[in-house]
Amino acid sequence: MLKLYDTMTREKRAFEPADPSRVTMYVCGPTVYGYAHIGNARPVVVFDVLFRLLRQTYGDKAVVYARNVTDVDDKINKKAADEGVDIKVITDRYLEAYHADMDALGALRPTLEPHATDHIAAMQAQIGQLVERGHAYAAEGHVLFDTQAFPEYGQLSGRNLDEMIAGARVEVAPYKRHAADFVLWKPSKPGEPVWESPWGAGRPGWHIECSAMIEAQLGLPIDIHGGGIDLVFPHHENELAQGRCAHGTDSYARYWMHNGFLDMSGEKMSKSLGNVVIPHDLLKTVPGEVLRWALLSGHYRAPLDWTPELIEQSRRNLDRLYGALQRVQDIEVGEGEPPAAVVEALSDDLNTPKAYAELFALAKILELSKGAERAAAKADLLAAGNLMGFLSAEPDAWFAGAADDDLRAKVEVLLEQRVAARAAKDWPKADAIRGELDALGVVVMDGPAGATWRLKEPA
Ligand SMILES: [Zn+2]
Repeated sequence: MLKLYDTMTREKRAFEPADPSRVTMYVCGPTVYGYAHIGNARPVVVFDVLFRLLRQTYGDKAVVYARNVTDVDDKINKKAADEGVDIKVITDRYLEAYHADMDALGALRPTLEPHATDHIAAMQAQIGQLVERGHAYAAEGHVLFDTQAFPEYGQLSGRNLDEMIAGARVEVAPYKRHAADFVLWKPSKPGEPVWESPWGAGRPGWHIECSAMIEAQLGLPIDIHGGGIDLVFPHHENELAQGRCAHGTDSYARYWMHNGFLDMSGEKMSKSLGNVVIPHDLLKTVPGEVLRWALLSGHYRAPLDWTPELIEQSRRNLDRLYGALQRVQDIEVGEGEPPAAVVEALSDDLNTPKAYAELFALAKILELSKGAERAAAKADLLAAGNLMGFLSAEPDAWFAGAADDDLRAKVEVLLEQRVAARAAKDWPKADAIRGELDALGVVVMDGPAGATWRLKEPA
């Protein structure tokens, strides 16, 4: 049975979808004005594991996962103005990069990727509902949500209105009835995208984007709403207020899930500290699967400390699993069901550290087993890896992956010469070639299907 920690009720609860034939999940997606940083990648990978687990449980077609693309935003406008290009040039460029980077991290594409600019009418409709129902008011070209007209405002984040003001993250403006009231619609500045509306030409606030797209794409209430812990307030609190008040319903999302912060070697990641890590750059030297392993190495709700050691350790862990598979690569297996122990670990609020321990246990069984049991053990390890988005590479390709093309070509030539030398029983020559490979940092492993190789671990 799947149990998930719900931020709203502050407890782990059994997950029961409203309709098991259509399980809905929404995760706040990227604002496309630059490359995603590693902190942005954490929820993508975490909720990808949940997506895979839900598909495993309810069937591939029964799970509808939507992740939005924010393509109207101040930062996008600024970037376009700085480069002197159209906004679409910026949003297309960085959405493409986002897809490529998240693909490399082994994340499945969501079922739906609604764009904010395609949903302006839906946003205006929801704002209209809020005004009509007395939950929003127009003032000086803005439309604001009236927080005092929704007594349950603050329920998700556990804050009351006074605390929100003390937090001082709220913007004070003369046209607001209360400092915590937030923007649903605002006038555009010159040069910014602009849409006509009943409240004047302008553009939507950020929060209305998600609640309008959730209503339009998934229907309310949804089963699971996810995102980083930093989104609980104000973003999710505001989405929730909008979604509920637009229709007077008592539920917007049935389960709220938030992943913890990602720190850089004990420090907060920030531009001013110069410690921002970008997967787009990292992927030039580190396999995406290693980054994925690192991102899932701690429990998703706990803070994750991102360090060079974490990346190295993650690579070693995957080497160990691929090593076990490489030794049985001559054994053919079909697709199997993931073993119960791995499903159980993930079903306990996505306990990925426990699931990792199960993967190693499966690798050990594989190494110790013989005959028909070996094939079953291999199928188990592959199916468990597949459920988590790991181990889909050919072991040889995995180990050779860190070698560049030149080195790869050189190694292949030497291996062929070695086979020829051995066939001619020229042992001194075969040994000499092995020495040459060793000097190149290559480990040769002789197996029943011929020799395989991998790069030695960096010391
Ligand atoms: Zn959102």
